Amino acid sequence: MKKLANYIDGVDFAPISNHYINNFNPSTGDVYSLIPDSDERDVEMAYEAAEKAFETWSKSPSEKRFKILNRIAELIDLKNEELALAESIDQGKPIWLAKTEMTRSAQNFRFFATAAMQFNSESHTMEGHAINYTIKSPIGVVGCISPWNLPLYLFSWKIAPALATGNCVVAKPSEITPMTAYLLGEICNEAGLPKGVLNIVHGLGPKVGNAMVSHPNIKAISFTGGTATGKHIASIAAPMFKKLSLELGGKNPNLIFADCDFNKAVKESVRSSFLNQGEICLCGSRILIERSIYEKFKTAFVAEVQTYTVGNPLLDETKIGAIVSQAHFEKVLSYIELAKQEGGNIICGGTVVKPEGLKNGWYISPTVIENLSYDCRCNQEEIFGPVVTLTPFDTEEEALMMANSTPYGLACSVWTENLTKAHRVAGAIQSGIVWINCWLLRDLRTPFGGMKQSGVGREGGWNAMNFFTEQKNVCVKL
Ligand code: NAD
Repeated sequence: MKKLANYIDGVDFAPISNHYINNFNPSTGDVYSLIPDSDERDVEMAYEAAEKAFETWSKSPSEKRFKILNRIAELIDLKNEELALAESIDQGKPIWLAKTEMTRSAQNFRFFATAAMQFNSESHTMEGHAINYTIKSPIGVVGCISPWNLPLYLFSWKIAPALATGNCVVAKPSEITPMTAYLLGEICNEAGLPKGVLNIVHGLGPKVGNAMVSHPNIKAISFTGGTATGKHIASIAAPMFKKLSLELGGKNPNLIFADCDFNKAVKESVRSSFLNQGEICLCGSRILIERSIYEKFKTAFVAEVQTYTVGNPLLDETKIGAIVSQAHFEKVLSYIELAKQEGGNIICGGTVVKPEGLKNGWYISPTVIENLSYDCRCNQEEIFGPVVTLTPFDTEEEALMMANSTPYGLACSVWTENLTKAHRVAGAIQSGIVWINCWLLRDLRTPFGGMKQSGVGREGGWNAMNFFTEQKNVCVKL
């Protein structure tokens, strides 16, 4: 069976413990590879390699960093099919979606490669008697920790700006989906990334992640994952005065007003509910619908959901693949049970699916629930699976009250043809991202992140480049 290795100082290393963790293929439920069960000793080794590489990398011309990161992007594009297959097998997502995500991972590297060439210090003159200039320097060795839902996409979203700004990185992918991060090591060598600039340590969060967060010389942590984990990380990193970027959970509302473009709102709301099995932090999981169109919307929504086939992720016609792990599968099913106890009416799905030949895989049919109060647990807690609730509202005020009622504030989509209303609602929504008449339309220059318990800080564009730098202002009296 394939044994994955840590990527440290440009070389594959077995974990010092020589212990491994099973890696499951969610579409079959079988163990298909072994992941290093690393610990703080492997993290220390990765840190030392990064520290050794920092002096040269941080002083390298931005054009060199541009060329290498751009080459990584080219290689990801060239290996799109191989990487997509690995991602689909590891994560359970449909292969067509994995291909798109590999393209987007390449785009992350390309985007931040060009950003390296454009990133400037700033200068402010004081009416002719003084001039300030701001030097932006790499921080040193930084840590990047990513989740299992969009494995290479979110891994590259952090690593690329960290490297573009001249830092060296110790990175940890999720232990549930390590495969594309493992393959990235080879790509970095092929692209000519100097040894030690990027180091990838595999293993469990409470061991490897914790060792990174509590390491005295890993000076910044960029984390994407669950809110509870984010809170724990902050409790360790904050007293050490580390720079911290936290991208956490969501419970995102779609606000459907009666004056929306009906067909588009239905189609995109179904997509926003079930893309990647509903395992995207930005998925719309609470669909709030103006009462006058509630019944019509519900009928059209369910009809569209029924076109979403669940099955083998490797088939092009599959719309919904496997749930990432048995533990997550059980968690999602437990919320469907909870919904029934909370008085919910399952109007479609809610069942375990056993595709032909894949009886031990973890599949759940797309589930639509109505008749739940906006403040019940199923409408307040993140389920992160193919489960969505439909709730009617009577007024804009009521829609906003329900939309803003959760502890989260990541994303929201608003569907109306009335632009005044759309802007008014966008202004009043408590979320870091608002889409009007669309969903998941991403421009990598825009700030990305959440309010309330959805996170701290913003990624994307100059936000990410600034996060990974120390800024020093020098004031010169003329
Ligand atoms: P998770 O918090 O369980 O794990 C995320 C990462 O943190 C993994 O690599 C894990 O090994 C590591 N980790 C776990 N415990 C740790 C610890 N004690 N110290 C350091 N690291 C630790 O999250 P998950 O289940 O992998 O991902 C799903 C969650 O991620 C959802 O809540 C989802 O909303 C969120 N998410 C957020 C965004 C965003 O941009 N806001 C994007 C994707 C996913």
